Amino acid sequence: NPYNRLLIVANRLPFSAKQTAEGTELIQSAGGLVSAVLSMAEQMGQSASDQTPKIHWIGYADASVRELGATALENDNFVAHPVYMDDTTYKEYYEGFCNDLIWPLFHYFPSFASFQDSYFERYQQANGLFLEKVREIARPGDLIWIHDFQLMLLPDLVRQAIPDALIGYFFHIPFPTYEIVKLLPRTWRQALVNGLLGANVIGFHTADYVQHFLQSVTEVLSLPILGHRIVLPDRSVIAGDFPISVDFNKFNMGARTSAVLDTRNRFRDELRTPKIIFSVDRLDYAKGITYRLQGYERFLVQNPEWHNKITFVMTVVPSRDQIPHYQEIKREIEETVGRLNGLFGTIGWRPIVYSYMSLSFTELLALYTACDVALITPIRDGMNLVCKEFIATRSDDQGVLILSEFAGAAQELNDALLINPTDTQEVADAIQQAVSMPAAEQAERMQVMRRHIQNHNVFRWSHQFLTVLDENTTLKTSIE
Ligand code: UDP
Repeated sequence: NPYNRLLIVANRLPFSAKQTAEGTELIQSAGGLVSAVLSMAEQMGQSASDQTPKIHWIGYADASVRELGATALENDNFVAHPVYMDDTTYKEYYEGFCNDLIWPLFHYFPSFASFQDSYFERYQQANGLFLEKVREIARPGDLIWIHDFQLMLLPDLVRQAIPDALIGYFFHIPFPTYEIVKLLPRTWRQALVNGLLGANVIGFHTADYVQHFLQSVTEVLSLPILGHRIVLPDRSVIAGDFPISVDFNKFNMGARTSAVLDTRNRFRDELRTPKIIFSVDRLDYAKGITYRLQGYERFLVQNPEWHNKITFVMTVVPSRDQIPHYQEIKREIEETVGRLNGLFGTIGWRPIVYSYMSLSFTELLALYTACDVALITPIRDGMNLVCKEFIATRSDDQGVLILSEFAGAAQELNDALLINPTDTQEVADAIQQAVSMPAAEQAERMQVMRRHIQNHNVFRWSHQFLTVLDENTTLKTSIE
């Protein structure tokens, strides 16, 4: 590797702190980004023929970290450098600008977006605090990899402060068409697009998001573009698609452990119906949960022969439920579940088993493997990892994936039953097709998707991104 150290910058740190009787325990998060970064650390260690180097990670100091008042926290894998911020700044930057404006807007819910001057001011301020930490920690030769829509201004801030820095940036949510970006005040959209261009390479999940971004670069800054290369006076920036993925082996092997098999068998015994459908999502209006229930309702109306023979296990993971729009959809979901169970259910049969909770890794894998159909119907989703995790667990080659064409993952998974989530008839038909699908056809489709996810796993994702980053910076040197 041409760089010395990997410095990740993301809103969240890779672990949170927990006080126990023995002292402070750091609980490492299990997400895709953390596993991808860990495997990169291993590779860097191998090439340098010494032990695995630690990854430096800059992120916001949450309450658990603030309590410790530490300037750095370390476990076997990471050195975390917390960014301290007062509550008002954090609230308006994160809950405000990020979750109350950019999230709804970039997921095509413009009527949910709230435009407040103070949000943007705090967003600038917060990005500035991340910059201070980067300046403190970064050394020449580091690779600085910045993540997601909370830090769109940061690449340019770092570029101004450290002109020859090697900067990668990855955008984890959809990048929408310019008609949506245009809804942002002119100075904000200029600052955001310009902020991203501080990076050497900007990654998105799909080719569509890349095209949308390039369209915004043209409209907002009128810069020349050659293919995927945005030409600036002194350098160029590559915008590319790098679909994020999952640690295939972790899910594939994990699903075969005895703890998972026991839980899976218990689920199947308890649910009793011959067919089981499931969904798992964070509470979010972009996940299309109410439309999904309406599609299931239509299926039950049109296919009475399936009454008593099917259960829809719907788990919603608590998220952002202090925000009014989220409380509203939670109420709507719960009303719809109640109405449908009242309408179709009998003493011995509940058509929907709903829970609002987090699942353990074992329960999640047990659910993925206990079910016949995954019903994943977001109205918009940058990628959607749940569907890829489901595929990775199905070493039996069985199970049908019904997937919204508005999830980034749909670009890669043509063997799913692709549906438009707001077309409830199409959803009902897909459920009917899925529950009646012969085992041979399930296997055919599942094998193709499993091969794809096995090859296009999260390690390939980070490797591809860093390869393009290397190539782009090498090219710059050769032009000089
Ligand atoms: N997940 C979780 N807790 C749960 C259930 C699921 O953390 O109780 C994980 C799941 O394994 C997946 C992630 O949450 O990795 C959801 O990612 P996805 O891309 O599907 O949606 P997002 O929540 O990022 O919008």
